[in-house]
Amino acid sequence: MYNLAKSLKLGGWVLNSPQGVQIEAEGSQSRLEEFLVRLQQEKPRLAFIQSLEWSYLDPVGLGEFEIKKSKKGGEKLAFVLPDIATCDLCLEETTNSKDRRYLYPFTNCTLCGPRFSIIEKLPYDRPNTSMKAFRMCPACAKEYRNPEDRRFHAQPIACPVCGPRLQLLDAKGEPMAGEEEALLMACAVVRGGGILGLKGIGGFLLLADARNDETLRKLRQRKLREEKPLALMYPDLKSVEKDCFIDPLETRLLTSPEKPIALLRKRPSASTSNLVAPANPYLGVMLPYSPLHHLVLRELGFPVVATSGNLTDEPMAIETDEAVAKLGPIADAFLTHDRPIVRRMDDSITRIIEGREIVLRRARGYAPLPIEVKKNLPNVLALGGHLKNTIAMSKGKQVFVSQHIGDLETKEAVEAFEQAVKDFQRLYEFKPEIVATDLHPAYASTQFGESLGFEVHKVQHHLAHVYSVMADNGLEGSPLGVSWDGTGYGEDNTVWGGEFIVPDGGRGEWLAGFEPFPLIGGEKAIKEPRRTALGMLHACFGKEAFEMQDLPPLKSFSAKELEWMKKAVEHDVQSPKCRSVGRLFDGVSSILGIRQRISYEGQAAMALEFTANGVSDRIYPFDIRPGGRPKYLINWGRMLNAIIHDAKSGVGNDVISSRFHATLAEMAAKIAEASGEKRVVLSGGCFQNALLVRNFRERLGRRGFEVYTHQRIPPNDGGISLGQVIATGEARR
Ligand SMILES: [Zn+2]
Ligand SMILES: [Zn+2]
Ligand SMILES: [Zn+2]
Repeated sequence: MYNLAKSLKLGGWVLNSPQGVQIEAEGSQSRLEEFLVRLQQEKPRLAFIQSLEWSYLDPVGLGEFEIKKSKKGGEKLAFVLPDIATCDLCLEETTNSKDRRYLYPFTNCTLCGPRFSIIEKLPYDRPNTSMKAFRMCPACAKEYRNPEDRRFHAQPIACPVCGPRLQLLDAKGEPMAGEEEALLMACAVVRGGGILGLKGIGGFLLLADARNDETLRKLRQRKLREEKPLALMYPDLKSVEKDCFIDPLETRLLTSPEKPIALLRKRPSASTSNLVAPANPYLGVMLPYSPLHHLVLRELGFPVVATSGNLTDEPMAIETDEAVAKLGPIADAFLTHDRPIVRRMDDSITRIIEGREIVLRRARGYAPLPIEVKKNLPNVLALGGHLKNTIAMSKGKQVFVSQHIGDLETKEAVEAFEQAVKDFQRLYEFKPEIVATDLHPAYASTQFGESLGFEVHKVQHHLAHVYSVMADNGLEGSPLGVSWDGTGYGEDNTVWGGEFIVPDGGRGEWLAGFEPFPLIGGEKAIKEPRRTALGMLHACFGKEAFEMQDLPPLKSFSAKELEWMKKAVEHDVQSPKCRSVGRLFDGVSSILGIRQRISYEGQAAMALEFTANGVSDRIYPFDIRPGGRPKYLINWGRMLNAIIHDAKSGVGNDVISSRFHATLAEMAAKIAEASGEKRVVLSGGCFQNALLVRNFRERLGRRGFEVYTHQRIPPNDGGISLGQVIATGEARR
């Protein structure tokens, strides 16, 4: 690292700590990117990077690159490694017919293999893992005890003689075959157009031939999943390159030891069915991350859909009985094994936005690595939000953010959430001093927090987003927080989601927000962007909104429905006021005729993003008025008017969408100028939108603002728990 940093003329330092190697390097962005890529490529042959988490910090003028003295201390015991994808050496062994682990699907070593998903308690020793039931054979025991061996103290060490074994079950759970035969028969099921339940590292996946329309239609029907994109697993990097455009940073991401799902731009010639991700220019792609996945994909030689084995809004199955009971109606067969999964671990989702890696779902490969903050925190247990829930806890300067738990929409999901809270507390022997929750009184996570019997500190949703992106970037003080998402409980009985907040001591000054509009039908409007559109039109044009019969949202309703909605909005029935940018995206999407209803969260907004043709120089008019609370109100009425005008005069949706994105960034730039802050931090689900981030970087960057985005922690509600911890710590200081 030292040599590489020197050769790139980077300033900074490297040191060893109980948490691993830490580097701070300073230089231009392109050199830092090159450093990241070459670190992987030029490391010594036997060196293996188990995990690489990085973030951009403020430049501080670091001197010549140096090797600092090792750091001692810190909480070693609290440190659990994530599950690490199969290393090259283990892969070589499982594919070498002369090796004793030839074709063995559970091969691992100290450089790779399951960790977080098999550990029952600390310290991390074999009797404390789900490998305790397997007695090491003499050959494995020899390797385990030999300090010269790569498997010295490799806790999940195993081989065909002593380790876990495969079994193939039919859809009813009846055994059909074992070991190698099971693997071959399972692959035959997939090749023949069937659906296979596969028990992997953190749970069951459903596998199906990604090129086969008929199979995918069947999978979507059986799983009741209409259009939400399905993740793919490819045999190797070469096969990915055939189907997707991929740059060096994306290659690094895809082949990293974390082996996440990466969102890649699909080639028009891609071999996969359009049913994988309908109307979506991206594919969610991952490479095999355990020997079992490698062996299956090698045998198949084509990309497969690899989606979580669960029913809608329920947690992924981790036990074989559970999988057969729940997934039996979906899968044609199950390839399972006898190594218990202790902890459910979904596949992580990542993408590169503006040259930076960003984690959209943080689980396998990343969790539970801590986020380090600069000041000591009290012991906070934070329970996160409602959607994409995660929990977090702080110990000293470390914040441990859990793996993605999921949407708390079903009884099963809430049970899994409560289980995860208990599990985290038990594993880390953690005694909270204070519990942090969302402000929303009806969230399952809030109610659970109140039932625990500790002092409860409530953190407003969008403030939590702001603190989370600050922690992700190592920022302190009071930058301007731009917190945009779909929904969050506001402080003034409106639905928030387009907020500008300046954080201060764990609280926030609500600096600016959007002029509210009614969500006709409340929750229903989230599934039907046309209701949101009608609400927006009503906020701008009053009664006349219902006369605008030529607009797509109105066309999509019957006269009777329109009559009902008119009454609802005029009498203020079931029409909560909303200020969310996520909903503005929905409404514009509907007005442009792009989507009137959706079948998964964020679909209409994503469709609008995909419609755009890049960064636009032209923006729509808008007004900013003094508002009291918030201090500034953004009035988007003239923008909506201009959008309708453009649409009617035949301007393409691609142009309109681009201008809409640019206008939102311009609104933020104006508020940033009024705020007097130089640093602007972006958080909330809207900033998963690459085009919006680009517009922000360009428009605010041009005017000298420093724009910070998420990297290691999701901008969506997966980051809420981290923000709750920091806000609570700050409020207590
Ligand atoms: Zn290995
Ligand atoms: Zn063995
Ligand atoms: Zn949110």
